[in-house]
Amino acid sequence: MPIFTPVRRWQPAFRPFKRESFPRRILVATELIVKGPLFGCRMCGNCLLQETALICSMECPKGIRNGPCGGSTEDHCYVDETRPCVWYKIYERAMKWGWQEKLLEVLPPLDWDKVGGETWADVVVQVGKVGTSKFAGGMLSRDKDTRRETWQSVFYPVRQPDWWQGDSEYHAPAYEEPISELERRLRDGEFVVTSEVAPPMSTATGKLTRNIDLVKPYVAAINFTDNPSATARMSSLACSVMTLERNAEPVMQIAARDRTRTGVQAEVLGASALGIRNVLCLSGDSGRMGPPPMGRLDILDIDSVQMLWILRRMRDEGIYLDGRPIKFPPKVFLGAAASPFASRPEFQAIREHKKVNAGAQFFQTNLVYDPDGLETWLNEIAKRDILDKVYILVGITPLKSYRMAAYMHHEVPGVSIPDAYLKRMEAAGDGASEEGFAIALELIEAIRQKQGVNGIHLMAVGWEEIVPRVVAEAGLLPPDFVPVEEAAESS
Ligand code: SF4
Repeated sequence: MPIFTPVRRWQPAFRPFKRESFPRRILVATELIVKGPLFGCRMCGNCLLQETALICSMECPKGIRNGPCGGSTEDHCYVDETRPCVWYKIYERAMKWGWQEKLLEVLPPLDWDKVGGETWADVVVQVGKVGTSKFAGGMLSRDKDTRRETWQSVFYPVRQPDWWQGDSEYHAPAYEEPISELERRLRDGEFVVTSEVAPPMSTATGKLTRNIDLVKPYVAAINFTDNPSATARMSSLACSVMTLERNAEPVMQIAARDRTRTGVQAEVLGASALGIRNVLCLSGDSGRMGPPPMGRLDILDIDSVQMLWILRRMRDEGIYLDGRPIKFPPKVFLGAAASPFASRPEFQAIREHKKVNAGAQFFQTNLVYDPDGLETWLNEIAKRDILDKVYILVGITPLKSYRMAAYMHHEVPGVSIPDAYLKRMEAAGDGASEEGFAIALELIEAIRQKQGVNGIHLMAVGWEEIVPRVVAEAGLLPPDFVPVEEAAESS
């Protein structure tokens, strides 16, 4: 790939919200004329080029500013298959240039006051603050560290405003006792099972509550997806509250796609006040996967990494994004998605590392059908020295039919099913659901042996009746398991 990426801007450039002074408008036009052809610049006004190997991350059709999403592949972006994944290109070049450590810095969301404006004046002002001769001298130094510090003294304040101050460091949770029952079990070394229950597509809650009651004795916590495949369903918050009312523990999933930075903070405060203690932060499937009419695709107000950073600081530092103190901060055990089979394992591990630094305490992975491939990804995570900082629950979906298996393999981003399993499902004919159940047990058996795995996350995709059978036959009943009949008698 050439250093410059001329005329590679897929989306139109942003325009400023306010009328700028004439000299500033000249500066904006100049920056657009220069950086547009060279980098495909969209004039986001919050430039990150130095951190992204001189490839503009705003080319990402989801507008993600902190690494590839879980659907990225080596071949193309999953939202728009006509273009490469820009984050894959950034990682590839950063590795080649030895810039990979830059990829760990938690980068801020857009400051929309600057969108459409130029960024050069900020740099000039900062050089002035540092001192022009000091800056020039530092950059001409023979010492690599001096050059780096001088560069950072100018560009760190420009890209990391006071209200964000992102870094590349791990921030241990600032509390002692486990926040949730899920966290307690994981800390105690239990090999846990969590399970998804599909939120209803209407206001009827009968099936939802039956499914909650069905799976709750078998699992440590129950996840509720947040408009999966960008398709509206009952909210994860409402399902989580109904779960608490039935004496079970929810994991509230929250997709950045449908939120603003204000909305996320408000929703998590409310969720915590209602007793929800586990929150899983996701960027969310692209609107491209949802039904028409399609909403705007190219902008997420915040991404999942930024969501983790904001929520961790709310909880541990007691501050809102804007710095206002929170008298009674939210109490939440923070999780994130991990995608062992998107792009390359070493690239995904960088992204997971960044999530752990931002605040992720547990991962629930995308679906895994290849334990050896999982091990390769786990090794990459281990090399980054974060296995002891995050709990990993591996995603398993029992296959119900060959059609479902083929759909998952070909259509679901980040999911790959080995040929051997596809052939077994096809050959099983009418017995495909039993074959899928047997494959799930084989996978669990293989996966639970892997170093660094702390549990299984069962995503039954509407087949919740299979969950008790999988848990029981895999030998994963919780230590305090009470069969439903006994529980009913004693209550
Ligand atoms: S990060 Fe923003 S300012 Fe920098 S090249 Fe991309 S769109 Fe332009």
